[in-house]
Amino acid sequence: MKKSPLAHTQKKHLNFDALRSSLSQCFNSIPEHRVQGRCQHTLHDSMMSAFSCMFFQDPSIAEFQRQVQESKNNNNLHTLFKVQSIPKDTQLRDVIDNVSSEALRPVFKTYFHQLQRAKQLESFQILPNLYMCAIDGVYHHSSEQVHCKQCLTKKHSNGTVTYSHGVLLGAFMHPDKRQVIPVMPEPIANSETGYIKQDCEINAAKRFIAQLKKDHPRLGVLITGDGLFSKAPMVNLVLEHKMHFLFVAKPDDHKYMTQWLADYKKLPTYFVKDLKGREHRYTYQNKVPLNGKEDAPWVNYIRYELINEKGKTTYTNSWVTDITIDEHNVAKLGKAGRCRWKIENECFNTLKNQGYHLNHNFGHGKENLSHNMYLLTLLAFFFHQIFELSDPDYQLCRQRYVNKIALWETFRTLIIYFIFESWGEAFSKLLEGRANAKVNKKNK
Ligand SMILES: [Zn+2]
Repeated sequence: MKKSPLAHTQKKHLNFDALRSSLSQCFNSIPEHRVQGRCQHTLHDSMMSAFSCMFFQDPSIAEFQRQVQESKNNNNLHTLFKVQSIPKDTQLRDVIDNVSSEALRPVFKTYFHQLQRAKQLESFQILPNLYMCAIDGVYHHSSEQVHCKQCLTKKHSNGTVTYSHGVLLGAFMHPDKRQVIPVMPEPIANSETGYIKQDCEINAAKRFIAQLKKDHPRLGVLITGDGLFSKAPMVNLVLEHKMHFLFVAKPDDHKYMTQWLADYKKLPTYFVKDLKGREHRYTYQNKVPLNGKEDAPWVNYIRYELINEKGKTTYTNSWVTDITIDEHNVAKLGKAGRCRWKIENECFNTLKNQGYHLNHNFGHGKENLSHNMYLLTLLAFFFHQIFELSDPDYQLCRQRYVNKIALWETFRTLIIYFIFESWGEAFSKLLEGRANAKVNKKNK
């Protein structure tokens, strides 16, 4: 078939089947760790059943569909997710606990490449051929009783111990885009060797950056993070990996640099007025030392101030970067730095608050369960982000429903009563219900 001349610039759609099939492929290639002949359910079916719970944001989905199977001799995990037999919750937990977390890395990479090929990624560029990956640490488990081999431990003076799990989460984002694109996070956890040394956010970030380069060797990456990262070792590490950085640099944490900047008579300034009459003022200076040491990295500095219509400064922030700043890119970089909060807002809070049931429902396991469940939750979130970016059916559903919560609530109810042979059929039903609801409202 002859390609249209526009084909190479047009965004393509990624649908449920393409995404589900990549997931199946990954789950099918996980090495079997169990004794052959004694496995009632495949690794694929266990992983996919757990994933479907995260996907529908309900920990009881798999169990419910097992009951649907008994009464109707078919179920939606079979038709939609290609699960041949659904394990019980306890079986599912035991299997997933022993799966190596690294086995899930290929899905994150595949989804990223699928977005790239579908031309969905281009609009995420911060500067030409440069994509911003925001990083931040988050702790998703904390307990005084429940723990596993990977748990971080904190001994208190009264003898009690707090056990916790964290991840260094990274996501590609753009100030004008609501969606974010997560990458495989790095666990902040202790290794198999025991509790000799506690892992931390900085060490996890170092491993994360090295791995991100391995996973996406040719991608232009700008790493952005909070003030914790604007230190020489991290700056040097990012540059060694041929990436760029944009880290928050607060005056109190960078006294030497702040003094250095104060010695200039005047720094270059660029400002724009917005429609509300507010002024966005950027002050910058290239080539300043990050600290007072002899081997200090030389960085470029940006300060941003938001000045309201009454002339009052309502917000300030400052960053350091290796990108040479000029009046053409300073506003773009400042805007990029400011959108870093999305990783907290769009990623962490969504995962925590919008029904992804991170912490409590699946138990903790002895080996990798806690981290694997976190990864499956993040993959479900990723799946939904791709839907929002590129699936026209989903976008239509989002338009028809007041909010996401209502949409998914309806979906969860529908799969109890109906068995859908395809994703398209499920979406039609979702839309059909919605059209009726609107008509009914009008008739009242
Ligand atoms: Zn643990």
